[in-house]
Amino acid sequence: MYQDPYPPDALEHILEYDTLSYTDDFGDNIQYVLKVKAIGLCERVVKYLHVVEQSKPRYRYCPDCKAEGKQEITTWICFQCSTKNQRDVLVCAEHVGSEHEDHSTEPVTY
Ligand SMILES: [Zn+2]
Ligand SMILES: [Zn+2]
Repeated sequence: MYQDPYPPDALEHILEYDTLSYTDDFGDNIQYVLKVKAIGLCERVVKYLHVVEQSKPRYRYCPDCKAEGKQEITTWICFQCSTKNQRDVLVCAEHVGSEHEDHSTEPVTY
């Protein structure tokens, strides 16, 4: 278990399955315990905080399809639009090609 404040070289010594504690002490004293699940190389630089796992998907249907009166399950996330809108922007395979062609996107799984 690593406790903050971390020594300057702590990141070099963190191993998979280590746990880290982080105290968010702006008057509330909220303590987070982070567990390292895997260490890999960074694939790309994204500003948007990357959620790898969450309890329930919130946006199941494509908003572009909804506008056309269709219901299509979303299978792609657009990082660019997610950053811009400050929420997960998920779209279907058809609209990721037509509406988010030049954006940074990735397939999602439920
Ligand atoms: Zn769609
Ligand atoms: Zn987009």
